[in-house]
Amino acid sequence: MKTVAVTKIGSLRDPDPAARGRIGLVDLPEPALGPEDVRIRVAYAAICGSDPHLAEGFFGTDVPIGLGHEISGVVEALGERATRNGLRVGDRVAGNFLRFCGTCDPCREGAQQFCRFVQEYNRPGMAETVTWHESQVYRLPDAVSLLQGCLLEPTSVAVRIIDKTRMRVGDRVAICGGGPIGQLVLQLAKRHGATALTLIEPIAERRAMALRHGADHVIDPVGEDQAALAAGHTADRGYDIVIDASGSPRAVRGLLDLAAPGGTVVYGAMYPEDYELPLNLSDYLYLRELTLTGVFVSPYAFPRALQLLPHLDVEELTRAVYPLEDAAEAFAVHVSGAHPKVVIRCNELAGAEA
Ligand SMILES: [Zn+2]
Ligand SMILES: [Zn+2]
Repeated sequence: MKTVAVTKIGSLRDPDPAARGRIGLVDLPEPALGPEDVRIRVAYAAICGSDPHLAEGFFGTDVPIGLGHEISGVVEALGERATRNGLRVGDRVAGNFLRFCGTCDPCREGAQQFCRFVQEYNRPGMAETVTWHESQVYRLPDAVSLLQGCLLEPTSVAVRIIDKTRMRVGDRVAICGGGPIGQLVLQLAKRHGATALTLIEPIAERRAMALRHGADHVIDPVGEDQAALAAGHTADRGYDIVIDASGSPRAVRGLLDLAAPGGTVVYGAMYPEDYELPLNLSDYLYLRELTLTGVFVSPYAFPRALQLLPHLDVEELTRAVYPLEDAAEAFAVHVSGAHPKVVIRCNELAGAEA
């Protein structure tokens, strides 16, 4: 089964071609269909900002490393006991690349993100098919195309980020990073009643995209004075909620200073393993009582992401589509930053974009 994989560990951005990581198509065996499993013929798999980190060896260095966790597709086969959610062959679906076992201590304590067996069904979805446990699979609403449906997983991450902010209607909100997660969080925060909604992003097209989707203000952190503009946009009070969706050590440096006293800062991205944020405990935690938190994965968020997906405008996140055979080129385009999101078409399925 053709699968997109990391075939050589290294940074995809390394200027030296000999040291650069490599993405290619490999042939991996299709897993057996267990009695509670669902086999999905994959329509689309989106490239995630975390995928280049996998190429750098963040989760292991044994190649090939199969990729793809933001997928949509059509049910091709069902195990004999995969009947609990009424799935049928031919259903259009998306889902969670992680299966939470439901049995280990964290799962039973309401913290599935720490499931001890979470990797068992984590299978590469940038492939001709993916085989998941039925608990991972969600049927797409009629109003959501397969192309839009591959954004269910990133939408679930955006939902979980908003959950972690404990945002109240009317809170002042700043988002750092205008990639797909930042843009989805922006649309959700807008729907949730955010005020002074500000996107901080160096790429002009992404700032413009945010303004088209409800941002009240945008800041270019490279060409403009971020702290002064943020103070102006919040009448010197700071933001109740500050969200990082950039994952960039350079970008997160000034974020704590944007938060209002008593505010919450959510680091909603993946960060370099060796990066340490300087934190003055007296300033930020004693005097200002900030709450700092992060997001690993997104349990409990998929049903709400599915409710929200038909109401989000994801057209600009689904414009760059490449066939499976051109996966290496698709990744090169992804790391170039030319498009906010790059999608791989894994199979030609009838009516997939409708
Ligand atoms: Zn992702
Ligand atoms: Zn578990």
